[in-house]
Amino acid sequence: MKVILRLTSEQLRMLKDESRKTYPAEACALLFGKLMDEEAVVTKVVVVSNVLRSPVKFEADPQTVFNVFEKADQEGLEFIGLFHSHPAPARPSMVDIKYMRLWGEAIWLILSSNDGNIAAFQKTNINLHEVTLKVEA
Ligand SMILES: [Zn+2]
Repeated sequence: MKVILRLTSEQLRMLKDESRKTYPAEACALLFGKLMDEEAVVTKVVVVSNVLRSPVKFEADPQTVFNVFEKADQEGLEFIGLFHSHPAPARPSMVDIKYMRLWGEAIWLILSSNDGNIAAFQKTNINLHEVTLKVEA
């Protein structure tokens, strides 16, 4: 179980910019880096376009996602999780919770396009818990 997700302020700004650009559609990105026992450190953020261009759902193009995973793998990076923005509070929606089952123990970083709050969550086989965000310069 991960308790801390580390991001840089630069990565966070990039994610917020992307969400503003795609609004009202949901923005999405894949997060890679290093996984430790209780921490995940993001070193690479890859924005993927939301093929649904919808304000309530996101879906990335499977071929694009495959290529992004392959490249990160070549770079020796581990998959940490997914980022998306949605026009609701910064916690998983019912749809998100359903999709979480497809993504194993990936961390879900969620930005509310309503109030700009951001929070991270992880679903393990035991429960769904919030992951503390640590943003460093
Ligand atoms: Zn969502």
